[in-house]
Amino acid sequence: MIILYNANIYTKIPEFSSASALAIQGERIISLGPDKQILSLYGKHANAIDLHGMTVWPGLTDAHLHLVNLSRSLKSIDCETPTLQACLDKVAEKARTLPPGEWIEGHGWNQNVWKDCVYGTASQLDHVSEGHPVFLTAKSLHAAWANTIALALAGINAQSPDPPGGHIQRDAAGTPTGILLESAIALVSNILPTASPEKLSQDLHDLQPYFWRMGITGVHDFDGADSLNALQILSQNGHLQLRIRKNLPAKLLPQAIDLGLRSGFGDDMLHLGSLKLFADGALGPQSAAMLAPYQGSDSFGTLLSSKADILKIGIPAVESGWSLTIHAIGDLANQTVLDALADIRAHESKNQLAQLPHRIEHVQLLDPADQKRLAALNVIASVQPLHVTSDMHIVDRYWDGRAANAYVFQSLLNHHTRLVFGSDAPVESPNPFWGLHAAVTRRRQDGTPDINGWHPEQRITLTDALDAYTCNPAALAGFENRLGLIAPGFYADLIILPVNPFTLLPQNLFSILPEMTIVNGKLVYQK
Ligand SMILES: [Zn+2]
Repeated sequence: MIILYNANIYTKIPEFSSASALAIQGERIISLGPDKQILSLYGKHANAIDLHGMTVWPGLTDAHLHLVNLSRSLKSIDCETPTLQACLDKVAEKARTLPPGEWIEGHGWNQNVWKDCVYGTASQLDHVSEGHPVFLTAKSLHAAWANTIALALAGINAQSPDPPGGHIQRDAAGTPTGILLESAIALVSNILPTASPEKLSQDLHDLQPYFWRMGITGVHDFDGADSLNALQILSQNGHLQLRIRKNLPAKLLPQAIDLGLRSGFGDDMLHLGSLKLFADGALGPQSAAMLAPYQGSDSFGTLLSSKADILKIGIPAVESGWSLTIHAIGDLANQTVLDALADIRAHESKNQLAQLPHRIEHVQLLDPADQKRLAALNVIASVQPLHVTSDMHIVDRYWDGRAANAYVFQSLLNHHTRLVFGSDAPVESPNPFWGLHAAVTRRRQDGTPDINGWHPEQRITLTDALDAYTCNPAALAGFENRLGLIAPGFYADLIILPVNPFTLLPQNLFSILPEMTIVNGKLVYQK
């Protein structure tokens, strides 16, 4: 048994508002109360930890990230460089240290921050890669940059057609430039050497402390079946100490139906989540689907799934017990998804099916008329606060005049929409205190754009932001009676903070790092 006492405990239950101690038995919190009461009841046989007034919060859940991609990106070149040349320099350095023929992988470039916003080319990489194949994914994960050897290994040449939903960028002569967009990325990523499930499970095992250090005790994963396989090995070996909701790509629906699997299958450490669909691309590469063209362009982006496409998967999905999680960035994509989900809700009602926790991922631009529809349809908004501060200048440039409808977190809350927060890591850092800071201040950590933040009317309170990292993701998983709150009977997923974030100046929220992290009743991390 563990007792935490002399603590400032954040519990939303009025009955326990003055509790300064809590007792943990096994995986769960069994009691909260004053120090004296908890210590005299349980103190004899417990490991009692004096927190000297530190703050206890529920552990935080990142509701959207990519475990395998994150693990991979932490090991590959960080291409988030201020110039294209700096990125090439990093490739050159890596090329000198790797055994001949091995792939050089990198992630994080963004041509929008480079001079003249120009993409790199295959031949620029050829000059520095010393015979290694090179594959560098963009920060948005909606574009990739390969060298000539990598393109050749993938069989991409001037005659290759664009794959459905993708584009091989070509020069005036028709030769591929090295830039691959959307589904064309997979032409190369599919031939990358793959790790065995055992190796992958070791990688994910090694990733857990990285999350505990920043206060994350649970994640909703958006990678594929390889990630699920590796997580099962971790779970079976008793090494899974991160609570996982595992979403799966929609293309696996037929197999899932054949196997009789449904959303929710698993246990309270690892269970199946929703099926993931894509309605459009992303803002950076201008592939998000728009109701009106991008500023200074006649492009409307790309709608990857029509309403009919979504229903074709969505109806059999809900009939077999699968909730949906649909990527939508542009206002046309969000509108299309809401139209499809309206039909799906009607189908659920008509056929007396359960109302499943359907969600939209990103919800970046919402036509004003659509802002109330998520709540009306009981659809969850899964949003990433760090996208606000990372993308605000691109939004101003590409969505000029529409920026007031971008990342409208407070408007969504005004309509009583359920918000969950994530990072889309490795797109952004999964550090949830960076996310809390961005949601509450709408400012970057350097203080830009100004004291009020970008579109300050959409700043939200710390209480609402914390809910989006705790009880809201727990509720969408159906765990509202056992996770996301500090109360008797709830899982002891807890973080201990050196300061009380509610008394800190909001601009300093990003600097918080936990002193301790407890997952499923076990102290897994101590600073
Ligand atoms: Zn994602």
